[in-house]
Amino acid sequence: MGTRGIIARPDGRDWKGRYHHWDSHPESLGRTLWRIYREDFKRDIGRMLRVLIDEHFSWSTINGTNFDLEPRHLTARQEQLVWEMQEATGDRLFPPKCHCHGPGREPDEKDTYLTKRANVPFAYVLDEKKLTMKVYECKYDDGWQLLASLYLEGEEPKDWAALKGKSTTFRNRKPAGVA
Ligand SMILES: [Zn+2]
Repeated sequence: MGTRGIIARPDGRDWKGRYHHWDSHPESLGRTLWRIYREDFKRDIGRMLRVLIDEHFSWSTINGTNFDLEPRHLTARQEQLVWEMQEATGDRLFPPKCHCHGPGREPDEKDTYLTKRANVPFAYVLDEKKLTMKVYECKYDDGWQLLASLYLEGEEPKDWAALKGKSTTFRNRKPAGVA
């Protein structure tokens, strides 16, 4: 399902980030960001944000993909082959799918940053210095609502989907040793 989102860094009081097209719900994209920070990027938040925000300018999807592979947009034929291989092996074989690289890229896609003014339902704002991720949902009348404020080294939310539609912000406990 096409549910748009933004993956961003804080930029003063604003955000500076990139577009993510498919399934940007917390239980999909939020959980993916949490997982790749630990697994694919081995807690190297700097490298993670360089790849997600500096090196690529628009994402089709990063859900269910593998950042050990070079992000790119495959052709439909390649997608089919990778899918069959993945089904057969059970390994994560899909490269993160961007719009800007690879044989299936969209040449008209613009290298633009998105800000708070982006008209998308979900935003994930990752702070490299504080090691936090803030999850926002755009309530069209009320603007951005903070669903969750998470220490990346804290405990994972048990139910990512349940973060949505709450009037209170979920906060995980500050991990030991964090100032
Ligand atoms: Zn790219």
